[in-house]
Amino acid sequence: MIKKIICINCPLGCEMEVLKDDGIIKVSGNTCKKGEDYAIAEIMDPKRIVTTTAKVIGGDREVVPVKTDKEISKSFMFDVVAEVNRHIFSAPLYVGQVLIENIFDTGVNVIATDFINRK
Ligand code: SF4
Repeated sequence: MIKKIICINCPLGCEMEVLKDDGIIKVSGNTCKKGEDYAIAEIMDPKRIVTTTAKVIGGDREVVPVKTDKEISKSFMFDVVAEVNRHIFSAPLYVGQVLIENIFDTGVNVIATDFINRK
């Protein structure tokens, strides 16, 4: 399997080709080791920051934008959104406030990214 990946670790944006064959991964097109590490991670266990919104009670708005405070395995993305949807948070809420700690024992928290005042 050959996959094309653009490295996002610096503005150079190296275009890499990743070959995975019999469990062996070969990366080409990268200018530095960071690119190789990124390409291997993208093939083995791609991770992303998850952003969504959460319900708020007693606030001047009914939802608050939230995100994970670190990248989390893409395999958890829909589970994170579903878990956030199961909660209703009470205003006031502050930027950076941890709303769900250590979600799914990943060491990743879900945090608020906006201020919601009381009604
Ligand atoms: S491989 Fe290295 S030089 Fe190329 S984009 Fe990634 S970090 Fe930048």
